[in-house]
Amino acid sequence: MTQRAYNFAAGPAALPESVLEQAQREMMALPGPKASILEISHRSPTFKEIIESAEKNIRTLLGISDDYAVLFLQGGGRLLFSMIPMNLLTKEQPSADYILTGTWGKAAIKEAKKLGSMKVAWDGADDKYTYTPADSDLELNPNAAFAHYTCNETIEGVQFPTEPQTGQVPLVCDASSDFMHKPLSVDRYGMIYACAQKNMGPAGVSIVVVRKDLLERSSDELGSYLNLKLHADEGSLMNTAPTFAIYVVRLVTDWLLNDIGGLEKMYAINQRKAKMLYEVLDQSGGFYEGHARQDSRSLMNVSFRLPSEELTTAFLKQSEAADLTSLAGHRSVGGVRASIYNAVPVAGVEALRDFMIDFRDKHAN
Ligand SMILES: *Cc1c(COP(=O)(O)O)cnc(C)c1O
Repeated sequence: MTQRAYNFAAGPAALPESVLEQAQREMMALPGPKASILEISHRSPTFKEIIESAEKNIRTLLGISDDYAVLFLQGGGRLLFSMIPMNLLTKEQPSADYILTGTWGKAAIKEAKKLGSMKVAWDGADDKYTYTPADSDLELNPNAAFAHYTCNETIEGVQFPTEPQTGQVPLVCDASSDFMHKPLSVDRYGMIYACAQKNMGPAGVSIVVVRKDLLERSSDELGSYLNLKLHADEGSLMNTAPTFAIYVVRLVTDWLLNDIGGLEKMYAINQRKAKMLYEVLDQSGGFYEGHARQDSRSLMNVSFRLPSEELTTAFLKQSEAADLTSLAGHRSVGGVRASIYNAVPVAGVEALRDFMIDFRDKHAN
């Protein structure tokens, strides 16, 4: 069997080894149906138990109350960029606010603008999306249908230390790349959504946590799959659910609960991992230049540059050869990006840290 490398991919991304091993063990047959998860009905009792356990785990890990629905949807983050304004804008409130701290926030407002008059409450473009705003810098519309932000900008590696305050306006959060990396006060949000393939599982499913009263806004005129209220009414089984992806989300959340011991513990590990890499940047004498401002640094995506294109190419080639893989920055920004999601082990980050120190010692003047 091929030896596994330490995988720093941005998404789809690393999964816990114990989760892959369990999926492998169970791949040929699950105990009840004596068939693979890939071969059974989304309406079977076995799958019903899987999707209910996944939801229960998410509720337990985040302490989510009955005021919120938890949904499993297809279409990724992108479809939600459209579905959210489709469902949450109303005749009385036809506009929403968007806080833009990077590439994904821009992609979200681009879709939303096709459906209503969106307002930019803050835009970090002038400073190349290097930091998150203070609440006092936000230009919020008190009559907005919702206020949208991206808690972790995956490409720039810019993360909000805490959620922005939007008063009575429901806060909607794209948490695609840091969902479950730490505990959250869910009751501060109208909606939190995340595609699974960064920090929660494989591609093919998105998780949506939404306050139930907001679902009353969904219009009957929407196409059924676009209607969030219908998904909630049908327990995310309006149509054939992405069974395998939800099964893996269940295993990942089992791992968070039982192996890690909850989100406080996960957060402590994530802080430790991120600190290791940011210390290398800060102590490199300018050899490694981090993209994000210190107070907005992401615990999940560490984006940085080297002094030249040649050194970047050499860094990527040599790290790959050392089994530290998928470290290239996003094609839009270049440089290096180490995605150190929940499932990336401490030992992997230690190996990357040592590689970075060594590379710098060899190549800095
Ligand atoms: C990856 C990502 C998305 C898009 O996800 P898709 O499932 O590919 O549509 C949206 N938002 C953020 C913050 C992401 O990191």
